[in-house]
Amino acid sequence: MRFDTRVIHAAQPPDELTGAVNPPIYLSSTFAQSAPNKNKGYVYGRTSNPTRTVLEQVLADLEGGRRGLAFASGLGALTTMLEDLPSRSRIVAGSDLYGGTRRLFEHHRVQFGVTTDYVETSNTEAFAEALERGPTSIVYVESPTNPLMRLCDLKKVAALAHRHRARLVVDNTFASPALQRPIEHGADLVLHSTTKYLGGHSDILGGALIARSAARGERLAWLQNAVGAIPSPVDAFLVLRGIRTLGVRMRRHCDGASAVAKVLQASRKVAAVNYPGLRDHPQYQLARRQMDGFGGMLSAEFRGGAAAARRFLRRLRVFTLAESLGGVESLAEHPASMTHSSVPAAERKAVGITGGLVRLSVGIEHPADLVEDVERALRSV
Ligand SMILES: *Cc1c(COP(=O)(O)O)cnc(C)c1O
Repeated sequence: MRFDTRVIHAAQPPDELTGAVNPPIYLSSTFAQSAPNKNKGYVYGRTSNPTRTVLEQVLADLEGGRRGLAFASGLGALTTMLEDLPSRSRIVAGSDLYGGTRRLFEHHRVQFGVTTDYVETSNTEAFAEALERGPTSIVYVESPTNPLMRLCDLKKVAALAHRHRARLVVDNTFASPALQRPIEHGADLVLHSTTKYLGGHSDILGGALIARSAARGERLAWLQNAVGAIPSPVDAFLVLRGIRTLGVRMRRHCDGASAVAKVLQASRKVAAVNYPGLRDHPQYQLARRQMDGFGGMLSAEFRGGAAAARRFLRRLRVFTLAESLGGVESLAEHPASMTHSSVPAAERKAVGITGGLVRLSVGIEHPADLVEDVERALRSV
């Protein structure tokens, strides 16, 4: 079955008992046993819950992994994944990462001596050099990156990681499985903030891990229960509901973002637009090979610096000034003072997150309204 069919039907036959076409929300923290340790596969709600199980099976199906696991947030998923690393192990990571991910890596360095070496995500050579420098447990990347929309060549970096006995972990939040399935390119583990495109309606927080191998999946399921950062059954249901429209939503996100990117690129007030769907994006060809669409996220660098960026943000009417992304509504934000303010200023500068940078999450409103909104705001920059 094709992706748009699987988002609706994978692991979701009508309920056997009632014929309900949607999986029931099982609000039960515990499950009756017929004799001590004799049960129907469910014992206690932290370990597993039937609604969550459906979500986890759908996630595994869409990403092409053997096991999916759902969490209370993207960082809950990341924390659980990091529990799997021995103390004093080493991470090689793309330098352009969600701010909260870097904050957690830094915390693990201070607390457990797990060090992270950062390399530029689009520079495959830099990954090779970093891996040569010493034993590495995991290579961790986002692609496209947040907020600069750079791509990692997943096939090449997966091969490099495996040559050095490291696992490749890909945060696939920006692309979603509708546009990119990292396991097909060699990744060992996929991470999501389901808060974003998978939930899709800015009404829940959630996270996910999808493992290529059953053994890794089993280990992470053990940790999921041991750590306990699990989603509620209602949140699991809402992510499932969001997923059913993922295919159609992503196509509209792509159309809107592509229209907005062109308008920004045509403006004299904008120095650079970061969107993998633009022909002059340095990795346009890689984006075409690796992704099934260019996504709904983009960022733009204003010539007038922070003051111009702020004027632009103030004038937007359809776009709401807010953190987060991937919902049906369009959002705009200023990474240097919002999503990435926890990254030290010197590192922000080294990566290229300047005061003039604005990030847009293009929603599924009518693209013409979004274009008009951006054009109007540009006039007053
Ligand atoms: C939001 C986000 C996270 C963190 O997820 P939460 O659900 O907010 O905990 C991780 N990675 C990326 C790329 C994100 O956008």
